[in-house]
Amino acid sequence: MKSSAIQEWFARLPGSIGIGNVRYTTSGKCDDASLVQGTQPVTASVESLKVALSFNGNIVNTLQLKREVDQNFSDFVYGCDSDLVCHKLLLELKKGKDLAPAVAEVMQSFDGAFSVTGITGNGVFFAFKDPHGIKPLCAGHSLDGESYFFSSETVSLDINGFVRDFELRPGELVTVSKRGFERQQIVENPHKAFCAFEFAYFARPDSRFDGKYVYEIREDFGRNLVKEFPDIVKDADIILSVPETGDDPAMGVHEESGLRWERASRRHRYVTERAFILLNNERFSTIDRKVNILGSKVAGKRVIVTEDSIVRGDTTKIIIDKLRKAGAKKVYMFVTFPRIIGPCFYGIDMSTYGQLIGSRHSPEDIATIIGADKVCYQSLDGLVRATGEKRGDLCLACVTGKYPTPLAQKIADQNRAKFLSGREEKGRIYELDEAPP
Ligand code: SF4
Repeated sequence: MKSSAIQEWFARLPGSIGIGNVRYTTSGKCDDASLVQGTQPVTASVESLKVALSFNGNIVNTLQLKREVDQNFSDFVYGCDSDLVCHKLLLELKKGKDLAPAVAEVMQSFDGAFSVTGITGNGVFFAFKDPHGIKPLCAGHSLDGESYFFSSETVSLDINGFVRDFELRPGELVTVSKRGFERQQIVENPHKAFCAFEFAYFARPDSRFDGKYVYEIREDFGRNLVKEFPDIVKDADIILSVPETGDDPAMGVHEESGLRWERASRRHRYVTERAFILLNNERFSTIDRKVNILGSKVAGKRVIVTEDSIVRGDTTKIIIDKLRKAGAKKVYMFVTFPRIIGPCFYGIDMSTYGQLIGSRHSPEDIATIIGADKVCYQSLDGLVRATGEKRGDLCLACVTGKYPTPLAQKIADQNRAKFLSGREEKGRIYELDEAPP
């Protein structure tokens, strides 16, 4: 839709509150009809009560909560985890609870990550974050003080000319009234576990977390890699980045090492799919079309390639193939996110052990498989230091195997054992019927 058409459409909408979501699917089916059905906001109503909400994260104990919601709403059709959060909140409101105790019950009932914005039928605009604060959610206002906003990332406030006020705390509920934001700590002494992968890959580089731009943190990742692998730096001629999440670390590597950052890998402006979230058969051709290597710039060179992460390894393998065909003499991978060894349960689509090259291969094996001379992962300590967070305040579960929520840990341990014994994973492991209660 053209932006003028969107403005015209906005002007026709009644009311003064709106919520929306660019959905990234980690729950429910992925066929076109299901994706359309999962378009947010999701809504639910019973008698005179209504709730609409928009959700970022992923729920782990969907199987258990589905039973409860099914028993209480005869017309409930499960599409994805957002429907469950919406119906569970409605169920608690139906019991006569006010919003805060209803949200408290939601926070206690769900295992997983959920940063939520919503509207009740009587016009209360609210937002809350799970007790671990795994996904980001910030609040801001317009310069004239007339409008109030919630957003996953600060960038959407910036580009609309709004002021950021604060990041929601884990376990916090915020409502908006004529007096502005009203904050209530629903869960006392929450245990913060903010997703570390946001810093390396997921967040936009021009967003800020705790005052620091994500791109500055990624530059620090690059500096760390130079300090951690000085011998590799001595054996390299140029730096090349995998566009675009490898660009900021490349800047850090360049500044710390003095090596030339050769902008010889270019991304096709109009091939916009994230290869990471595509289906297997689409991924190869997309990467091939998406990244162009300028052969004359790498022929005969020893190249350090900066990349945010290696998940399946096939994106990196294709890029290294292209570099070899272009005549690169050596290819060293500098990877800012440490080796991913386990699935994510909290809203990043890596949901099985089998799809992760790092779950069963050492860095040396991975180098052989993807065709690199060496794969150099940033250390966990280096990553944590650069984020400015305390290690205990970050979720690093996909790297360490230590999950911040109990059911996720149980499912991970159970499925890891099965995976190592050779059993095939048939779907996202937290959606399998045999997931423990
Ligand atoms: S498991 Fe990994 S990707 Fe998932 S929330 Fe934790 S750090 Fe982020």
